Amino acid sequence: MVQTVLHFFPDLNDWIDQIDDPRFPPFIDYDKRFLVWWGLGLFLCKLGSRRQLDYEFNTDGPGVLPNLNRLAGTEQETRPVNKTLENFLTGIGSKPIAVLRQKMVQRLIRMKALDEARLQGDFMVLIDGTGYLVFSSRHCDHCLTRKHGETTLYMHQVLEAKLLGPDDTVISIATEFIDNHDVPVGASQEKVKQDCELKALRRLLKSLRADFPQLRICLGGDGLFACGEGFQAAQDSQCDFVYVFQPTRFPALWEEFQTLLGQCPEQRVEWTTPQGVLQVYRWVNGLGYTDSDGRDWTLNAILCTETKPDGTTSEWSWLTSLDVDHQTVVTVATRGGRARWDEENQGFNTQKNSGLNLEHAYSHRNWAAYYFLLQIAHLLLQLVEKGSLLSHLAQARGKRTAREWFGSLKNMARRLLESLRQRHWPDAAFDRTKAGSIQIRLDSS
Ligand SMILES: [Zn+2]
Repeated sequence: MVQTVLHFFPDLNDWIDQIDDPRFPPFIDYDKRFLVWWGLGLFLCKLGSRRQLDYEFNTDGPGVLPNLNRLAGTEQETRPVNKTLENFLTGIGSKPIAVLRQKMVQRLIRMKALDEARLQGDFMVLIDGTGYLVFSSRHCDHCLTRKHGETTLYMHQVLEAKLLGPDDTVISIATEFIDNHDVPVGASQEKVKQDCELKALRRLLKSLRADFPQLRICLGGDGLFACGEGFQAAQDSQCDFVYVFQPTRFPALWEEFQTLLGQCPEQRVEWTTPQGVLQVYRWVNGLGYTDSDGRDWTLNAILCTETKPDGTTSEWSWLTSLDVDHQTVVTVATRGGRARWDEENQGFNTQKNSGLNLEHAYSHRNWAAYYFLLQIAHLLLQLVEKGSLLSHLAQARGKRTAREWFGSLKNMARRLLESLRQRHWPDAAFDRTKAGSIQIRLDSS
């Protein structure tokens, strides 16, 4: 853990130092480096709620203070309580934590740690929305409301851009919180979701481009984004896209696609996966589409028919601005099109179900700051889990992956907590020069 942090982010503590605390003098008696690490610890050890900090990082764990002190480069002599963290975040707001995330992602890109996952030179950025806070009574002025029979639920939603790295790592790169400003009056539930997310997409891409102006990006998204506005938003922010092509959304375009497929039988690639699934890819280049605002689009469309060894079949299709031909069709569909399933599986699902507790209200005031801390911790956990340092140790024990070695992600977090509490981590692990020169790779091999 320590070596992974120092290897990938040797300047992390300096970046934390740059956080502006608008209250001078700060009324909290703790170094901000220590408080940020304290907050990250909540998610790294998957404590599940802020209160747990007071119980799990308490004096029964003699390792907590010295270990966190050395991570933060501080010499705190006492432990804060969870309220200290809350007060600190109230003071600084969520923005500095988002900036921290941005610097970390920039560093990974610059050190080329994610290059293996590039597709036609682009980084795949998966766009997906999820609800993540639900209350039974109104919790703030911005809650989205949803009628559920007799009761009304008050919710917060988020639209995320996640960068796809090697070995199915998904790294939060931009976030837009969706609230009731986005909802048109009197709109249906389905329309609300669509409008909210499309509106938020514009904001998301704007902040993504502000943070990463030069990055070559291909957006991946579900059928909701496959529309004139979704194509235009991608084009305006100089992004390629691979969106799910839903026949029901474009009946006429789908029919034309089927006709054209029949006219180019040679545009076909067959591939059998290592699991014995037969995939037949067919495609059409230059499919013309005029959207509801009269804009003309030229798209490439891919159809993939899958037959499993037991005979069951399924069909997938995408619309894309990427080049599609015999050489590229499989990678565009698997890395671009299918990548969004990783978002479901590795992204939100993991953050909801593996102990990170995304849907828990860590704070009623500062939920955005905790949201970003969670994203940073999830990034660090993935680098530890999937980095070659731990993978090689697992392989030396005859296991394929670190997850297989520990049994589950939850177990890994529990072991990290045990070790943080009870062990004095060896001083050698904190040697920055040594951590900088070790090889830690993320790769799919
Ligand atoms: Zn609210």
